[in-house]
Amino acid sequence: MSDTNVQLLDTIANEIKACTNCPLHETRTQAVPGEGQPGAKIAFIGEAPGRDEDEQGRPFIGRSGQLLRRTIAEIGLTEEEVFIGNVLKCRPPGNRDPKPDEIEACRHYLMAQLVLIQPKVVVTLGRYSMNLLISPSLKISKDHGKHIIKDGLLYLPTFHPSAILRNFSSPEEFKKDLLKAKILSEKY
Ligand code: URA
Repeated sequence: MSDTNVQLLDTIANEIKACTNCPLHETRTQAVPGEGQPGAKIAFIGEAPGRDEDEQGRPFIGRSGQLLRRTIAEIGLTEEEVFIGNVLKCRPPGNRDPKPDEIEACRHYLMAQLVLIQPKVVVTLGRYSMNLLISPSLKISKDHGKHIIKDGLLYLPTFHPSAILRNFSSPEEFKKDLLKAKILSEKY
């Protein structure tokens, strides 16, 4: 891991914390840049911070985050080996869906983070990050767990952990997808 990339990732996090590029900065408590270091094997990318994340400035720490972090541990990865972040860095009020102009205003932060981290695999959590990062035509129900190479990065879409909590899929299926990502990250 290069010191320069660590510093640049830190610089981006500070820019995100001070960002006023879209109206979400007016309603946020804290921006949530993401957690992890350059060289992380797998980047997990969700949709946007929720209430707990907005309060604490950390990604995926509410109920769905606990499920994600528990499953990451179950497949034998430590939090030092992964990056956890989101497409949007600020909470949409009431957890409403992200708007296209918000995604457009924010996407360059995530793209820069991925360039600096250079993960072996990017796991998209839910349809927003899958549709933004891989392709708008993919469907989670059909395409989860299938790896896709795009622009030199290996992607693996899976469910958002909140969908598991709502029984749209099972914890076993979610874990199976994460395990596939881990195996891919060791192979490439
Ligand atoms: N849901 C997300 O997509 N991201 C978080 O950080 C928390 C909940």
